[in-house]
Amino acid sequence: MSARAGIVVTGTEVLTGRVADRNGPWLAEQLRLAGVDVAHIVVVGDRPQDLRAALAFLADTGVDVIITSGGLGPTADDLTAAVVADFQGRPPVLDPGLEQQIATIIARLSAGRGWQLAPAATAAATRKQALVPDGAGVLPPVGTAPGLVVPPADGRTGPPVIVLPGPPAELQPMWPAALDHPAVEQALAGRAELRQRTIRLWGTPESELAATLRENAARLTDLEITTCLSGGELEIVTRFGPAAETAFDAFAAVVQTTYPDTLFSADGRTVDDIVADALLAQGLTIATAESCTAGLLAARLTERPGSSAYVLGGFVTYANQAKHDMVGVPLDLIDRVGAVSAEVAEAMATGARDRVGTDLGVGITGVAGPGGGTEDKPVGLVHLCVVGPGKTVARRIRVPGSRADVRNRSVVVAMHLLRELLAP
Ligand code: ATP
Ligand code: MG
Repeated sequence: MSARAGIVVTGTEVLTGRVADRNGPWLAEQLRLAGVDVAHIVVVGDRPQDLRAALAFLADTGVDVIITSGGLGPTADDLTAAVVADFQGRPPVLDPGLEQQIATIIARLSAGRGWQLAPAATAAATRKQALVPDGAGVLPPVGTAPGLVVPPADGRTGPPVIVLPGPPAELQPMWPAALDHPAVEQALAGRAELRQRTIRLWGTPESELAATLRENAARLTDLEITTCLSGGELEIVTRFGPAAETAFDAFAAVVQTTYPDTLFSADGRTVDDIVADALLAQGLTIATAESCTAGLLAARLTERPGSSAYVLGGFVTYANQAKHDMVGVPLDLIDRVGAVSAEVAEAMATGARDRVGTDLGVGITGVAGPGGGTEDKPVGLVHLCVVGPGKTVARRIRVPGSRADVRNRSVVVAMHLLRELLAP
């Protein structure tokens, strides 16, 4: 059996949704890579009794280690170190060496940024951050706050608590030191390698896949399979121990033979990876003309570093006149068939390609809503076209949902049309 961990993410801003949790998922992935299974992620606000209850709950489930994020700063609402100290029965004591170290960091930061800090307040804040539960391990600060490894006091049982700062840019660099700490190594001695593979399908309904999984249930017992529908793609994530590698290969083969047309990634690559790799490998360039998505596809294509090797430019052609002026769509064509039509999508794609001088052009035109729909051009209707060397692919889609849904789905469909066009 592999070792198990519990995570407590603290912060009222995370609990209320003002800040999206980036620490829980990140830690869960790092733990998986280290062969540690995550049992729970608990989110609590900045209230000591709630943090304490979360620690007690996780310790009670029998996890081998608990990790907290946040609440290590100098302000009054930063209580994690004190609560964990009390929970583990190790009273906080001042670490003079650490106090000096933090004071040096703050002096350097304030000199660099031109801050004028009140000496008494700074000294109090520094002292607070240098309070270490008696006998706990100290993880060197990345920002100003040190992390802590706090085992239960002598004579007590329970998992050690790893206390990490809230800002992801501080938490992440501190993680290797936490994992290497002797008390943590000892607690996780039972860990076993856990492998993870991702297979992606485009266009297969989740219910169909569920039936396939049911039919093959007997041979999947050593695999932990989770399926998730995200942006129209069906993602199959499988986790297993090294001994089940052949069971996974057999499962992957079943998916491959059952869904040869919709399986587009068996090696974990995303559609973005596949399109970028294909453009680079084939030495092709691309330009876009977008109406309802207004640049979202161009933004998506340029998310990755190095995309300037193939993305040469793009147009946001929202108005009919702009479609004409910027990418040469004939106004009489728009008059005849309407701006949201297969003909205009294709004219936008060829216009973008010809104006920028690329190998590929993409055109997207649709009704994002919520207003502006008509009987034959309803909200959610989108026409997409990709023109490439010697090949054109086009699609008409009807996307249910909000304006954001229509725009986002259109971009995903465009990525898949690009993938289709570029497929060998
Ligand atoms: P600080 O010294 O900055 O106060 P801290 O360890 O006390 O650090 P928090 O006060 O809990 O951490 O959070 C500081 C900031 O870090 C938050 O305002 C938020 O922007 C970010 N942050 C904290 N927790 C998370 C999280 N789980 N996901 C994403 N961002 C977070
Ligand atoms: Mg704080």
